Amino acid sequence: MNIQKDIHEYCGVFGIFGHNEAANLSYLGLYSLQHRGQESAGIVSSNGKGLYHHKGMGLVNEVFDYTSLKSLLGRSAIGHVRYSTTGESSIRNTQPFVVDYAKGGIAIAHNGNIVNAMLLREELENNGSIFQSTMDTEVIVHLIATAKSPTLVERLVSALRRVRGAYSLVILTESFLIAARDPYGFRPLVMGRLKDAVVFASETCAFDLIGADYEREVEPGEIVIVSKNKVEYVKPFEKQKPSMCVFEYIYFARPDSYVFGKCVYNVRKDLGRALAKEQPVNADIVIPVPDSGVPAAIGYAQESGLPFELGLIRNHYVGRTFIEPEESIRHFGVKVKLNPVRDILKGKKVVLIDDSIVRGTTSRKIIKMVKNAGAKEVHLRISSPPTTHSCFYGIDTPTREELIASSNPVEKIAKFITAKTLGYLSSEGLLSAAGRDKFCCACFTGDYPVEIPFILHAPQLGLFEGKNGKRKGKVP
Ligand code: AMP
Repeated sequence: MNIQKDIHEYCGVFGIFGHNEAANLSYLGLYSLQHRGQESAGIVSSNGKGLYHHKGMGLVNEVFDYTSLKSLLGRSAIGHVRYSTTGESSIRNTQPFVVDYAKGGIAIAHNGNIVNAMLLREELENNGSIFQSTMDTEVIVHLIATAKSPTLVERLVSALRRVRGAYSLVILTESFLIAARDPYGFRPLVMGRLKDAVVFASETCAFDLIGADYEREVEPGEIVIVSKNKVEYVKPFEKQKPSMCVFEYIYFARPDSYVFGKCVYNVRKDLGRALAKEQPVNADIVIPVPDSGVPAAIGYAQESGLPFELGLIRNHYVGRTFIEPEESIRHFGVKVKLNPVRDILKGKKVVLIDDSIVRGTTSRKIIKMVKNAGAKEVHLRISSPPTTHSCFYGIDTPTREELIASSNPVEKIAKFITAKTLGYLSSEGLLSAAGRDKFCCACFTGDYPVEIPFILHAPQLGLFEGKNGKRKGKVP
């Protein structure tokens, strides 16, 4: 569940080349990727002569209407939904980021987080670049614009060679659609076909809606270049150990998507099964925290033989404005989204399943709600290991100090959230369900695959708003 104001989901990207309905299909693609970012949305299209764009703050269906979609001319387009992980929240930080430079127009949509963006920006500014936004993504655009190489692809490769961190990108010019994924493969990016059109998206659920066929993942370190007559593939970077974000499986991706080659729903169910084996409870019913805990709770129930019940019902129609209310009424947060089914919970020993604990504040409120509805005992089971470290690769988590598991043992967390017992899935259990040797698990281990040049003590939103490179420190 995502109730808290200051932990956010991040970004989703979409791209299409060679279809008469490019803008409309991008709209639909973004619509299915809405869970990856609700702060802003944008589409840039090309008709081979120029780029056309429309962007705004809000949900996809709030940002676009008939007229704006009609103004997006051409047979190719890229789109983006965003919840910022770097850069302040404002209209100038909406994506796709579009510029005109000496070689023409270029638009870029990015999911991920460039960890050396601050250093690169300082260098670029010292050499005269003028930045329009506070987004890490803009660094890539400046590096492309200032690269000396003759072709766009060569300029992009030289830009990406300088960039460290996580990126799944779609880039549009008048004549090309380019998709690129960083050599570690932190964020997902998939490729498909819709008749003769080539499509890219963060997740396959976008293809399902538009009726496109999934072909394959864009591989880590791969760049795919689509133009009128051909599709080219290059892998110009040194091979790195794959480090796909395991949290996509645990929480972020939609359960109906295939991500990193696996069905997210099934992975989540397997996480629940592993959790039931590792953390059994003598209880009456298994209840998920909806929506994120549902598949894991089904797995837990199937493995343990306990009945699965929907003891908490989520209101799906809560608008964004009300999710972030004034301080005075914020404590309504959980109640606005969730309501207990008293008849189901009354007098029962409940195993409550959620995907993760961040600060512990939401879990505490939910447990109180379940107890107030008459549950005799509440045992919380979490389908991932304790979240002890912040993510610097595109998932907006609070600072380490704010993560309850970074400084508290399980018993103390159980006490804080008022659960009778609390049990987490082990790292071993996580990897046996997700797959081995290819995941970034830094949020559980502190083992960061790409070195973080600066520890960002302030919320990650503050990347460029701070004292330009003055925040120093090693990730502990
Ligand atoms: P809390 O009990 O306050 O730590 O909140 C836990 C809830 O936050 C769980 O239901 C998770 O599904 C959800 N959650 C975990 N990570 C994130 C994230 N990065 N953004 C939004 N919600 C998250």
